[in-house]
Amino acid sequence: MPKLAVSLCLQCGCHTLTQLPSILLCPRCGCPMKPLSIQAETFMKLSGTEQDFFLVQEILDSAPASVRQTLSVHGSSSHHEVIAILCHQVSLLKKENSRLEDTVSWMHQTIWTLIHRIHPSP
Ligand SMILES: [Zn+2]
Repeated sequence: MPKLAVSLCLQCGCHTLTQLPSILLCPRCGCPMKPLSIQAETFMKLSGTEQDFFLVQEILDSAPASVRQTLSVHGSSSHHEVIAILCHQVSLLKKENSRLEDTVSWMHQTIWTLIHRIHPSP
């Protein structure tokens, strides 16, 4: 009988049960999925909340050190605190991205202005 494994997509959080050995792409986003160390039988015996907690821990364990440090600085341990912190981080990154896009746009316009000064159109 083929052995079942739990795989997790670290990009979108999707998880699946698959037969081993298999290299699996996420059915939701197409990214490679990470096989988890927990046995499928053990995972399926967990409640929905316990499965969710386990998957969140796997995602956090795989997160960049800067993200883990941010979460540990805030001493968060519950899912809603983690989600709130991550939403705040996303908001800050969107603001930073907007500022950087404005800078690139300004630089692009400045370069074209200088080029037109050097080589004026006839
Ligand atoms: Zn995915």
